[in-house]
Amino acid sequence: MAEFDILVTGGTLPDGTRADIGITGATIAAVGDLSGSTAGTEIDATGDLVSPPFVDPHFHMDATLSYGTPRINASGTLLEGIALWGELKSSTTVDAMVDRALAYCDWAVSLGLLAIRSHVDTCDDELKGVTAMLEVRERVKPYLDLQLVAFPQDGFFRDPTARANTLRALDMGVDVVGGIPHFERTMDEGRASVRALCEIAAERGLLVDMHCDETDDPMSRHIETLAYETQRLGLNGRVAGSHLTSMHSMDNYYVSKLLPLIAEAEITAIPNPLINIVLQGRHDTFPKRRGLTRVKEMHAQGITVGWGQDCVRDPWYSLGTGDMLDVAFMGLHVAQMTAPEEMRRCFDMVTTENAAILHLDGYGLAEGNTASLVVLDAGDPIEAVRLRPDRLAVISKGRVVSTKARNDSQLTLEGRPPSVRRRHSA
Ligand SMILES: [Zn+2]
Repeated sequence: MAEFDILVTGGTLPDGTRADIGITGATIAAVGDLSGSTAGTEIDATGDLVSPPFVDPHFHMDATLSYGTPRINASGTLLEGIALWGELKSSTTVDAMVDRALAYCDWAVSLGLLAIRSHVDTCDDELKGVTAMLEVRERVKPYLDLQLVAFPQDGFFRDPTARANTLRALDMGVDVVGGIPHFERTMDEGRASVRALCEIAAERGLLVDMHCDETDDPMSRHIETLAYETQRLGLNGRVAGSHLTSMHSMDNYYVSKLLPLIAEAEITAIPNPLINIVLQGRHDTFPKRRGLTRVKEMHAQGITVGWGQDCVRDPWYSLGTGDMLDVAFMGLHVAQMTAPEEMRRCFDMVTTENAAILHLDGYGLAEGNTASLVVLDAGDPIEAVRLRPDRLAVISKGRVVSTKARNDSQLTLEGRPPSVRRRHSA
């Protein structure tokens, strides 16, 4: 018999095992049958899914919740979104960015999303976004891990001060090196930007996460350069390629050579299905391409793939909730991951696989790890993706940071007994 600060009883873990979880301080002290134990706070999770927290490997927190400011994206394209963001960033303030970001972090916490990698625009001589996001990272630290990527949105070479400002941002404490090779003026400059940015990461011992080939152009080849530079500089296991959408239209023979190169460099991939399905294919008539990279094919090569959110109510995407289960749900559909093990994997992609991409320490429901978890009103991971259910309790670093009462109210259908329930379990 043990005494804990928090005890979560009777829950089902993502692998299907039933276990109690005992928390002491900010650490998971025990996992297993803890019957007879006591705790200051007890949470009954009988019949519910208890998962490690959701993780988002790709977001833009400097732009979030700005939809309609100063106008909406009429064409719906990536390029108009970038132009619109350029208008917004010249007029917005550090305080406005901090306020919007903190509001989004509240949404995130309530949904069990407790770690976010956000790109932050470094193409602004005042570095307003960087200043704002560094402040946000500090303020949310007690309950949410925010990892920042220095992102030269207007092009590392295309924008005259991007190089100096990106280096300044890294000096100020931004964590990861980003890039956008497909937005440089030419394919050659894109290639050179990948090389230069990877060299900066190697010199400083940082991770890399590059927006890469976010186009429908089957000849876009920046992921090949990223894999090459990763190997050349010994950055294996420390580099992520975000989007990789052009891969959907690449020649199949070429892809059969490319995927093993990505695997060899241990590059992780971050498709963003809500955004990719909306932004890509805009120049197509019919057939209209889906705009998502080759997820199952990368899995078959042993490449780690995570699902990213990318945008919520900003110049590129007018919807979004911050719910990583929405992202998994869309990804499952667009990638046609409908076999049971594939649906299950979509849940892992927004939890454990995203955590691996971010190199998070102490993640997962095991003794000695950080006491962060989420209790979902679902019986198992597939049901969680299907229902995107209520988060009944969210614990971050040993503190209960969000709760929601179980919604037992029943539907009333004419001529039917009041027993309609969407869950198949419990
Ligand atoms: Zn992005």
